[in-house]
Amino acid sequence: ATPTAIMVGTGLGAKRGVLFKNAMALETAARIQTVVMDKTGTLTRGEPEVTDVIADGIEEAELLRLAAAVERESEHPLAEAVVRYADAHAPGGSRARDFENVPGHGALADVDGRRVVVGNTKLMRVEGVDLGPLAARREELAAGGRTAVIAAVDGRAAGVIGIADAPRDSSPAAVAALHEAGVEVVMLTGDNEATARRIADRLGIDTVIAEVLPGDKAAKIAELQRDGRKVAMVGDGVNDAPALAQADLGIAIGAGTDVAIETADVVLMRSDPLDVPTALLIGRGTLRKMR
Ligand code: ADP
Ligand code: MG
Repeated sequence: ATPTAIMVGTGLGAKRGVLFKNAMALETAARIQTVVMDKTGTLTRGEPEVTDVIADGIEEAELLRLAAAVERESEHPLAEAVVRYADAHAPGGSRARDFENVPGHGALADVDGRRVVVGNTKLMRVEGVDLGPLAARREELAAGGRTAVIAAVDGRAAGVIGIADAPRDSSPAAVAALHEAGVEVVMLTGDNEATARRIADRLGIDTVIAEVLPGDKAAKIAELQRDGRKVAMVGDGVNDAPALAQADLGIAIGAGTDVAIETADVVLMRSDPLDVPTALLIGRGTLRKMR
């Protein structure tokens, strides 16, 4: 390995805002066969917005107020979207008591003496909530690439809130460039299978690993590494840090959390998915010069 090649590779990366933290990262980048990409905040902008509100047996404003009271206590990006929308369309404060966060599922609390559960279908199953007529509406939203947040009040499904998170502009081009380079692309997400599948289809990604609990992302990377495949993980969130560490190459989105940036081997300062194939190609160029 010539120090000159490494300096050139590191310099080339720096010019494009692709920071390799060490020489090993450059060499590993050259050998990557599979790139796993987190969905929210990596392939998408990570700026979820409420697009649909479907209330059943309750006023829409009341549904929003109850759901927002719970979500106000949560730090999840989906929760922030619900609160922002509710504050704009159904202002007025109910406060939550006995708040409980259920990682990878949702949250629940007591609001005005009612038990309000907000989250995905898994959480509703755990809580014994039957979706009834809302099941079909939820499926429609998911098929459209929306994340469907269900709200239950006193054990009864009261509404579905559809949330969209737009893909980053260059995500399809990034996937195409990786395929062009002979690299397999996998989407990894805690989101619902149908929602993830729809977004993956739009981006040209064929393999989707969905409904993964925050603590299980690293294990999914390890599975992909089983046959000795070299795997890179691209992520932005606190949730992604263990997976970034497990991967042969951890790549953090510059706009991501400090933990992700600290854990990663490569940081994409421009937060542009197109810089993922760029990083791998710079690695390949460096390795060629080293031989
Ligand atoms: P990701 O950030 O990859 O989507 P998470 O593990 O944070 O995954 O969440 C997985 C799923 O759990 C979300 O897609 C959502 O359906 C549900 N969920 C988690 N937290 C909340 C919340 N506070 N409000 C509503 N739904 C939630
Ligand atoms: Mg993310």
